Amino acid sequence: MAKEELECSFCGKQKADTNLLIAGLDAHICDRCIEQAHGIVAEESKHQDKELSSELMLKKPKEIKAFLDAYVIGQDQTKKVMAVAVYNHYKRLLQTTTDEDIEIQKSNIVMVGQTGTGKTLMAKTIAKMLNVPLAIVDATVMTEAGYVGEDVESMLTRLLQAADYDQEKAERGIVFIDEIDKIARKSDNPSITRDVSGEGVQQALLKLLEGTVVNVPPKGGRKHPDQKFVEVNTENILFIAGGAFDGIERHISKRLNMAAIGYKSVQEGEQIDTQNLLQYITPKDLKDFGLIPEIIGRLPVLTHMNPLDEATLRAILTEPKNALTKQYIKLFEMDNIKLSFKDEALDFIVQKAVEYKLGARGLRSLCEEVLTDAMFSLPGSEETSLVVDKAYVKKHLSRTRLNQLKAVS
Ligand code: ADP
Repeated sequence: MAKEELECSFCGKQKADTNLLIAGLDAHICDRCIEQAHGIVAEESKHQDKELSSELMLKKPKEIKAFLDAYVIGQDQTKKVMAVAVYNHYKRLLQTTTDEDIEIQKSNIVMVGQTGTGKTLMAKTIAKMLNVPLAIVDATVMTEAGYVGEDVESMLTRLLQAADYDQEKAERGIVFIDEIDKIARKSDNPSITRDVSGEGVQQALLKLLEGTVVNVPPKGGRKHPDQKFVEVNTENILFIAGGAFDGIERHISKRLNMAAIGYKSVQEGEQIDTQNLLQYITPKDLKDFGLIPEIIGRLPVLTHMNPLDEATLRAILTEPKNALTKQYIKLFEMDNIKLSFKDEALDFIVQKAVEYKLGARGLRSLCEEVLTDAMFSLPGSEETSLVVDKAYVKKHLSRTRLNQLKAVS
């Protein structure tokens, strides 16, 4: 085509009639069409934003807690704290940019509680409720850049993957950092060599928690000069850290005793529940445990998970929306077999879980153990029902197997 015949491939205007005609591979576009297209894109993204905001704003803290109640048994205090933190986090996210004089701080969360008490479940449930991507990462595999292990940024790769590589979605997602306690500074190890797994990782985490733009290798792995990066802004990503903090009770009780000596108990006249000291945890205890103050400052919402007692374990078996018993009933139903559990059978399973210290995770292994034979032989047989009573459970849970389960838990 001769130069003077150039025209906009969208509206057909001749070059002479436009202010600007931009050439593409084998097409041209004029300034008017660019403006129009830009308008469409802006309108579309505003529409999407609105959709998201109405979705998020619909959920008030009470509703968030009610949603958590359907999946997580007990842990009421933590649910409340989480509901408020999540509500505030997303309120902050919806804050209009013109409203800059009061900057709402991020409400990243740290959950302290023994393993198997529902920390991951809590994070998963929140992500499910908000319909945002969730990455579950393990702090123990992280090292400072340059050491063997994963860079801290790898958690954003996971988040991108969870968001199907939709960068905007990822930027509103949740990262659950498990075992945050394992990167605590070891105070009894005053080594002058660099503390590869501890403080260095904490330092690397700081910026991510606070909000920064990171070049993320979308396929993971070490940063490589040839790899294309995706820029991820962590400013609106909610970070939830969890850890067992084994032994932190020592710090808590020391602090409580000191307070008592100073004639100040936790709250005037209140009895200290020595069975569950975690409920008194404060940021200072995290510091004494070995988290650096800057990290603690960037995880401003601190909450604890209670150990699971027998009644809670019993409820976990039957009450959550996707409770174990409901799952098995569904599995059998698909083979047209009506499965039911007698109360005495469930009580017995819980008793064994407590006796062998198997925790909530152990409940699943116990149920598998009890039902494997039936799941193997009933499909395709004449049977149309199975009633699991105490005798049935007893028969299928041998002492040796229980000991084996205990060993792996
Ligand atoms: P953590 O992250 O604290 O180690 P998880 O959240 O992975 O523990 O919990 C392990 C399993 O135990 C979960 O899959 C869940 O089924 C069950 N569980 C633990 N605590 C609860 C709870 N409070 N309510 C319901 N299920 C629970």
